[in-house]
Amino acid sequence: MEVRAKKALGQHFLTDLKAARNIVDALETSPGASVLEIGPGMGVLSQYLLEREDIDFKMIEIDKESVNYLLSHFPKAYGRVMEGDFLRLRMDALYKGPFSIIGNFPYNISSQIFFKILDCRDMVPQVVCMIQKEVADRIAEAPGTKTYGILSVLLQAWYDIEFLFGVGPGSFCPPPKVQSAVIRLRRNSRTSLGCDEALFKTVVKTSFGQRRKTLRNSLKPLVQAKAQREGWTEEYMANFTAAPIWELRPERLSVEDFISLTLQLS
Ligand code: SAH
Repeated sequence: MEVRAKKALGQHFLTDLKAARNIVDALETSPGASVLEIGPGMGVLSQYLLEREDIDFKMIEIDKESVNYLLSHFPKAYGRVMEGDFLRLRMDALYKGPFSIIGNFPYNISSQIFFKILDCRDMVPQVVCMIQKEVADRIAEAPGTKTYGILSVLLQAWYDIEFLFGVGPGSFCPPPKVQSAVIRLRRNSRTSLGCDEALFKTVVKTSFGQRRKTLRNSLKPLVQAKAQREGWTEEYMANFTAAPIWELRPERLSVEDFISLTLQLS
């Protein structure tokens, strides 16, 4: 018995075994590495990962029917598959050391998955995942492109990101309405941003919240808050935002530019 695809869970099962193999091969692991698969479904990726004796492999799957499928088709899945919601998983309770993440992510929650990974980025050295191509483009994109956005900046601050390959709808059952792509994220060497991290996030989110506006306009509330704290005159405030960077729209700014803005606004 196959698993009946549930739309609400983002279930599109990959049927292209060559693509599945390539995804698994894209994950670089050293002996003894811990690997967590998000949303194994019917195990198209897991079947290869379960064969690997050199890694500590676990899976988390929200769908009971998929969990039962895995257990009845792969004896090695016993003790390795958790039934549950990745977004609620206490990763620090499950792992004491680093673990890499792999998966054909449920597209409807891929951004939430990335935000959760960012929250424990120092434990996650690598992520190989399939997501909607549009999101992959956005995440892997350099500044200056139309799709560059909040997630691009926040992920690029901590990860080196590679676009690996695209996968068409025909490689899935049922086929999704969108194109898919596989990306690899590798934790970069950054240990700190060198600025207040909460403010950095606020600056990035506020800027992209009104992405058609210049930073001078979109970040006005943050500049005003600083002006009030420091007791600036109107004139001083106007001078403060006279530099060319304030004339730009957020999609033109690199991670370093956002750090510099954050330092100015601290
Ligand atoms: N890896 C499989 C399935 C991909 S579809 C394949 O490539 O064929 C996405 C999978 O994620 C589904 O099995 C779905 O049930 C599961 N899923 C959806 N939301 C989840 C969540 N919050 N936590 C864990 N798994 C989830």
